[in-house]
Amino acid sequence: MRIETDLKLGFTDVMIRPKRSTLNSRSLVSLDREFSFLHSKYKWSGVPIMAANMDTVGTFEMATALINHKLFTAIHKHYSLQQWKEFMLTADENMTNYIAVSTGIGTADSKKLAAIFNQHPELKFICIDVANGYSEHFANFVKKTREKYPDKIIMAGNVVTGEMVEELLLAGADMIKVGIGPGSVCTTRVKTGVGYPQLSAIIECADAAHGLGGQIVSDGGCKIPGDVAKAFGGGADFVMLGGMFAGHAESGGKTIEINGEKFKQFYGMSSETAMNKHVGGVADYRASEGKTVEIPYRGAVENTVQDILGGLRSTCTYVGAIRLKELTKRTTFIRVQEQHNQVFSK
Ligand code: 5GP
Repeated sequence: MRIETDLKLGFTDVMIRPKRSTLNSRSLVSLDREFSFLHSKYKWSGVPIMAANMDTVGTFEMATALINHKLFTAIHKHYSLQQWKEFMLTADENMTNYIAVSTGIGTADSKKLAAIFNQHPELKFICIDVANGYSEHFANFVKKTREKYPDKIIMAGNVVTGEMVEELLLAGADMIKVGIGPGSVCTTRVKTGVGYPQLSAIIECADAAHGLGGQIVSDGGCKIPGDVAKAFGGGADFVMLGGMFAGHAESGGKTIEINGEKFKQFYGMSSETAMNKHVGGVADYRASEGKTVEIPYRGAVENTVQDILGGLRSTCTYVGAIRLKELTKRTTFIRVQEQHNQVFSK
């Protein structure tokens, strides 16, 4: 046994220090970013915020709403080929730039991935997603996927440490999804004791990825727009959101009425609810590592998007970053023991 004693930080451990700036309006700030990739030859431009590949978040309806702001959606892996066909028939002509096809690492997953690309060779992004990106089998799967799809942009995860970011980039991934345990409906830390405070994970993994010419996607743990700003400030190239995009008209999942008020069901992809729905129950050798919650219905996601983008533009003006790209180098985090004033919070 060994103990590492240097302190690892989450979003609530810091604030961003304001800096003298010449920017006098948020409207001057550009949130667009352009990326080229380590392996794929494609280029990407847009606002680097992503809806998570959860079936109560990363839906076709979500992608249709988010593309209006050039935001990205990792489409969950449970759509059928027929549903993909119907969606792609009506979709915006730029849709292939703003969605990823998600897959696990089982044989059935890779067959389905192949079938989707066979049907829609124009799709560009693959999101290879497992809860624990530390297995050798996972790195091998990334390698095989790169061999099979040399031109696609591959995002893979999840991991939280620099050495694994490097290994997965070298195995063929372009972007690495970072986050173990911070998610709003995740119970990994409760069930296993494993995890890594998200801000430190971002800082350390971004450093490793950028050193090799790769990108990272900070995945999980953002509760408010200020957390999204902190994730970018820490070095995230993309920020993936689950809970913040859940509960809307475009989020999948059941709508429930309780005492005349509308709620939407939201659940982790390893929750009992998800496993019952997609794989016929929780296998007896494993524990569910996700929660099911009902959250108040929040209407169209458009309002939430405006709120997040408005917050982020404001962060940029506070530190004098005219482009989102400059936010990291203009960020000084201060360690704090207080966050926002909650006296009038419900
Ligand atoms: P959020 O933005 O809601 O805090 O986090 C979203 C992320 O939580 C997802 O993108 C995914 O990485 C993670 N996640 C989703 N479902 C589960 C689950 O059932 N268990 C765990 N451990 N993580 C989950």
